[in-house]
Amino acid sequence: MNKLNFGPAGFGGTILEIPKNSKNPTADAILEVSKIGLSAMEIEFVRSVYLKNSVPEKKEEIKNNAINSNVSLSIHAPYFINLNAIEEHKIINSHRYILDSLNVGHEIGAKTIVCHIGYFLKQEPKKVLENISHQISLIEDKYKGDTKLGIELTGKKTQVGSIDEIFYFIDKHPKFVKPVIDFAHQHARENGYFKDKKNVSLFFEKLKSYPEFFKNLHMHMSGIAYGEKGEKHHLPFREADLPYKEILANLKDNKTTGTVICESPEIVEDALFLKEIYEKL
Ligand SMILES: [Zn+2]
Repeated sequence: MNKLNFGPAGFGGTILEIPKNSKNPTADAILEVSKIGLSAMEIEFVRSVYLKNSVPEKKEEIKNNAINSNVSLSIHAPYFINLNAIEEHKIINSHRYILDSLNVGHEIGAKTIVCHIGYFLKQEPKKVLENISHQISLIEDKYKGDTKLGIELTGKKTQVGSIDEIFYFIDKHPKFVKPVIDFAHQHARENGYFKDKKNVSLFFEKLKSYPEFFKNLHMHMSGIAYGEKGEKHHLPFREADLPYKEILANLKDNKTTGTVICESPEIVEDALFLKEIYEKL
């Protein structure tokens, strides 16, 4: 069966009913996500890998809740990662953030950890990609689990992560790296890329050039405000110009399976909104 899972990027401060005295809010959130009809959740380690030192039982509960309620889990790794950092301590920390996220991912059964992989820092692009690829090799050598390193399509050209840059890393690390397709970021980094609807199908043709990944994609979607320099901030779908219906229609026509994580300010409501539109198509 073809299946596309929809879910929120995180759960804190949402309409999900998580008991205030919950001992394991992440595990409880998974049950709530499933109860309202969603089937994915991204766990936000964006400020810290908060489950790293949790007792094994807690991680076991998260894993089991996800399996039992058919919720596909992913993790967003910390924002502080930059595999092209100049200072050595920043590289060491980036390795640690990625490996900690991957290890927790393995323990809780998350398929993907999502990473903003680095910044160009005005250096020569080719050199930057080579540097980052080298760092990825070092991490790949150290990691023994089966969770994949997802490289996110970024919202600004100063951040490494155009679709072609992601393909470069996939070519170099086909067993370890996977793409994370953020449609809002693609829209923003090209100053309104999908406003020309022809670009929606053009972009899908590009994705299809990697059929192995296209079959099972990890995606982010939200409305977005942008300018010449790319991404400004995320918006609810109704307040933005991202042609989400065309994007969802392309996902349906191409029978794309995988996960769509909603990153709009109303993460749960808008995940349901997307799912509803997708199902009616
Ligand atoms: Zn992200």
